[in-house]
Amino acid sequence: MKIAVLSRNRHLYSTRRLIEEGINRGHEVKVIDCLHCSMNITSANPRIHYHEDVLENFDVVVPRIGASVTFYGTAVLRQFEMMGTFPVNESVAITRSRDKLRSLQLLARKGVGMPVTGFANKPDNVPELLKMVGGAPVVIKLLQGTQGIGVVLAETRTAAESVIEAFMGLKADILVQEFIKEAGGADIRCFVIGDKVIAAMKRQGAEGEFRSNLHRGGSASLVRITPEERKTAIAAAKAMGLNVAGVDLLRSSRGPLVMEVNSSPGLEGIENATGKNVAGLILNWIEKNHAPWRTKTKGRG
Ligand code: ADP
Ligand code: MG
Repeated sequence: MKIAVLSRNRHLYSTRRLIEEGINRGHEVKVIDCLHCSMNITSANPRIHYHEDVLENFDVVVPRIGASVTFYGTAVLRQFEMMGTFPVNESVAITRSRDKLRSLQLLARKGVGMPVTGFANKPDNVPELLKMVGGAPVVIKLLQGTQGIGVVLAETRTAAESVIEAFMGLKADILVQEFIKEAGGADIRCFVIGDKVIAAMKRQGAEGEFRSNLHRGGSASLVRITPEERKTAIAAAKAMGLNVAGVDLLRSSRGPLVMEVNSSPGLEGIENATGKNVAGLILNWIEKNHAPWRTKTKGRG
């Protein structure tokens, strides 16, 4: 197979591992930096120009699109889809998952459990918004945030009101969420490929930190998940339309709650914590499932 890995940096752990496993299996693997692609979208024969080359005859594209280049990266991915290349995750699914509010709405529609979440555009009724999610303590999140930046725990009503008003004053889009205290500063990352959870790890926040992000000093360890957690993670990936996904769950007293679904889940943390060859499992899945023109949207999303 001829495989394009859509990534800005060939030296990143995840990109490197995908190249390695692809080559081990005898495939041709090329790393394509989406920001260096230009596209001909007017002709009946869609093309991607890359430096001096024209990209042609790729069987598979593995999108590893960073949050900061979602807009352009998904446009390049759509162009691949228009050329019949099989996307490991489709552009529409990635766009959905990058919008925290849209993803939660999709999960809610499919009946997947999540923390009670409220959203408002204007600061006129902050007390009502707080009441809707059960009152303080609450977690306030910037919709555009990643890696735990822009996620705040407000322990009291007055703290919550001031933080919400401050964010709204800056015209930042936020959501307000019930705080799942019993999760104890930990979450579960389930790595989904196709319709299976192939690896799972528990991330525990640093002492005194409610956010478990590894970027915020959290640590990861192997964990056994329950059948209910497994079912929830698979349902969440399916609701987003992602074939490969990192589903983050909080262990609450009413069962697993989905916090977010990541369309480019990192491989380093999960491979180290579980000792599994996750990149190899992704390639196995690709070998079994790839086919030309096999998207639900054919780049029309
Ligand atoms: P980001 O996209 O920045 O990673 P998350 O929504 O994943 O933002 O939140 C970061 C971390 O904060 C989570 O991994 C989790 O440990 C903690 N957290 C987020 N929401 C809640 C919540 N409602 N209750 C308890 N902890 C939460
Ligand atoms: Mg997160």
